[in-house]
Amino acid sequence: MMLYENLPYYLSKKIHEANLADYPVNSENDVLELFALLRAYFPSLAVRGLYDLYAQFNSGTYPDINEQNMLRDKFNVLTPIYKPRENSEVSLFMQQAYDLALIAFNNNEVPVGAIVVYQNEIIGRGFNQTRSGVSSMLHAEIIAIQEAQKHLNSTYLQDCDLFITLEPCLMCSGAIINSRIKRVYYGAKESKTGACDSQYRVFDNRVVNHHTEVLGGVMAEQCTELMQNFFSAKRS
Ligand SMILES: [Zn+2]
Repeated sequence: MMLYENLPYYLSKKIHEANLADYPVNSENDVLELFALLRAYFPSLAVRGLYDLYAQFNSGTYPDINEQNMLRDKFNVLTPIYKPRENSEVSLFMQQAYDLALIAFNNNEVPVGAIVVYQNEIIGRGFNQTRSGVSSMLHAEIIAIQEAQKHLNSTYLQDCDLFITLEPCLMCSGAIINSRIKRVYYGAKESKTGACDSQYRVFDNRVVNHHTEVLGGVMAEQCTELMQNFFSAKRS
């Protein structure tokens, strides 16, 4: 186990913000994985953070230049361009989508948030704006996907994952398939308009979809509760 209190302040602060203070670190690989999780949360975190973490694991001895190179190489092998995401990483990203859903909620919009992740970087963000934008098309996913496409200057997002707080509708499922998103993680089920599991299963159709995997129920309780709070506040 690691004594996070002895880390440089910038690092221990980030570890706490990312809720990783209990992450078990018993080996060098754990150090690399912890750094990968931190990078997922703070994409701009410099590689110095990895050396500082390693020093902590290594009884305070800062890695020399050879060890630094070795650590960087191992880190790059550990986190190739695309690998299946760990549960803890999925939760971190869904939390970011959830924070966007809260913005929608506070704007009196149906609270749905979405982010697009490329490697470990968030490159698209969206929250539902159908009311304020007076458009049935301004769903969170559509906005996030468009931002990601602009960011990569690419119509296709085959190396990207999408995190959404609510099961996508037919329109958004179409947009996801057409933009060839690699994986969709969603939170709450949408019993009336959901097109992944609830009303339609468009992603199961191999004629229209060759690209996208879907995983539902991530932080489902929290996402469902937010929707319920919104609609019960509307009724009262
Ligand atoms: Zn939609």
